[in-house]
Amino acid sequence: MKVLKFGGTSVGSAQNMQNVAKLVTTPGRKIVVLSAMSGTTNNLVEIANYLYKKNYDGANEVINRLERGYLDTVNELFSGEEFRIKGLELVKSHFDYIKSFTRDVFTVFEEKAILAQGELITTALFNFYLQENGHDSVLLPALDFMRTNKNSEPDTGYIKENLERILSEYSETQLFITQGYICRNAFGEVDNLQRGGSDYTASLIGAAVDAEEIQIWTDIDGMHNNDPRYVENTRSIAEMSFDEAAELAYFGAKILHPTSVLPAKLANIPVKILNTMQPDAPGTTISSSQHKNRLTAVAAKDNITAVKIKSGRMLLAYGFLRKVFEIFESYKTSIDMITTSEVGVSVTIDNDRHLEEIVDDLRKFSTVEVDRDQVIVCVVGDLVAENKGYANRIFEALKEIPIRMISYGGSEHNISLLINAKDKKDALQALSAKLF
Ligand code: ADP
Ligand code: ASP
Ligand code: MG
Repeated sequence: MKVLKFGGTSVGSAQNMQNVAKLVTTPGRKIVVLSAMSGTTNNLVEIANYLYKKNYDGANEVINRLERGYLDTVNELFSGEEFRIKGLELVKSHFDYIKSFTRDVFTVFEEKAILAQGELITTALFNFYLQENGHDSVLLPALDFMRTNKNSEPDTGYIKENLERILSEYSETQLFITQGYICRNAFGEVDNLQRGGSDYTASLIGAAVDAEEIQIWTDIDGMHNNDPRYVENTRSIAEMSFDEAAELAYFGAKILHPTSVLPAKLANIPVKILNTMQPDAPGTTISSSQHKNRLTAVAAKDNITAVKIKSGRMLLAYGFLRKVFEIFESYKTSIDMITTSEVGVSVTIDNDRHLEEIVDDLRKFSTVEVDRDQVIVCVVGDLVAENKGYANRIFEALKEIPIRMISYGGSEHNISLLINAKDKKDALQALSAKLF
C-alpha cells in the first residue's frame, strides 16, 4: 500500500483534479489524501472570523463567492449530466450547512465544523470524478478513523485499529480517497490537525497501514535547499534524512507540516516529495540514511519572541532552570531555542498568547527583557562535532547580520540563529550564496 497526498494547488482547479486522477489510477493499492482546493481553508477562516463578529453580510459575501467557485469547478470537472447534478447537489448541501451558522450561536465548535468543509467537498467531488470515469474508488471518511486524544495528539492506536477495520471491509478495492487535515478530538467533535495538516494525515495513515511509501505531491519539485519564496536559484535536494527533514519542517520549511516527519520516521517509511505539475521529476526522498559531510538546507521560522531572563544570584543555584521552565510549562508554552550564560538564560517562543503572565511570573525572581519580531534561521546538515569548518562558513555568510542568539549541539543536524525579522531575507540569501 502507498499513501499519496495532494496539496491544495494540486487539486486547485477542475483541470488539476483531472491531472491528479491520472496520477492515482495507475496499478497498485493506494490511499489518496487530499487537501481542500487552494484558497478554500483561508476563505473558511475568513467566514468564521465574520461569524464571530456577527457580521453576517461579510460572511455571506465570502460564502457566496466560495460556493460560486465550487459550482464552476463542478461544471468544468464532469462531462456527463448524472455526475454534474450529483456534484452540484453535493456543493449545495455543504454550503447550506455553512450558511446555517449565520443563524446561530458561533463558538470554536462551529468554527471547526466550518473549517472541515473544504476537504469534505474536495474529496467527494474528486471521488465522483473517478466514478464518472469508471474507476472503482472508495471514499473513506477521515472523521471515522482520524482522532486526537486529550492532549490534542493523534491517537495512533485508535487510528490504526479503525483504519484497519474499515480497509478490511474493502479487501478487493485498490483505490481509497480520504480527507487530509480533519479529524475528531477526544470528545468526538470535528477538529483538525492545524493549518497545513494534510501532510500529517498522510504520514499518520502511512504509519497506521505500514505503507511501503508516503508521497507528498505538491507544487514544487521537492524540498529545496532554501526557501524559494525568498531566495532565487534554490535547488531540489535528491535525498535527505528524516532528522534533517524534521528540523527543516519544524523550523519553517512550509513544504512539510512541522510534525509530519515523525510518524514516518518512527515507522521507517520513506517519504517522497513530488511535483504534481512535473510528475517525472525525481523530487526528494526522505529516509533513514544520512548524507555525510554536507550542509543540506536552510529554513526560517517567523513570529518568534525572545525572552531574556537574568539573575546573577540564581543561575548557579540549583533549580533556576527548573523554575524558569515550569513557568513556561504552566502556560502550555513550548520553548524553541535556549542559550545560557553565567548571568542568565535566553529562550524563544512562537506562541505569545500567555507572554504577559509568563513575564509577570519570571519577574518574581529575575529581570526580564522581551524582543518581538524575531526569526529563527536554521541551517541543517551533517553537523556532527567532527565536521570542522561549517560554523565558520555560516558566520562568514552572516557577517553583516546582527545575531541575537546561537544554538548548536542540541542535535547533530542543526545550527539555529535568532535574528531580527527585517534581516531574514538578507540572511537567507547570504547563506545560499556562501553555503550552496
Ligand atoms: P501544499 O498546498 O501542496 O501543501 P504548500 O504551499 O504547503 O503546498 O508547500 C509548498 C510550498 O512550500 C512551495 O510552493 C514553496 O513556496 C514553499 N517552500 C518553503 N520552503 C521550501 C523549501 N525548502 N523547499 C520547497 N518548497 C518550500
Ligand atoms: N486545507 C488545510 C490548510 O489549508 C490543510 C492543508 O492544506 O494541508 O491548512
Ligand atoms: Mg502544505
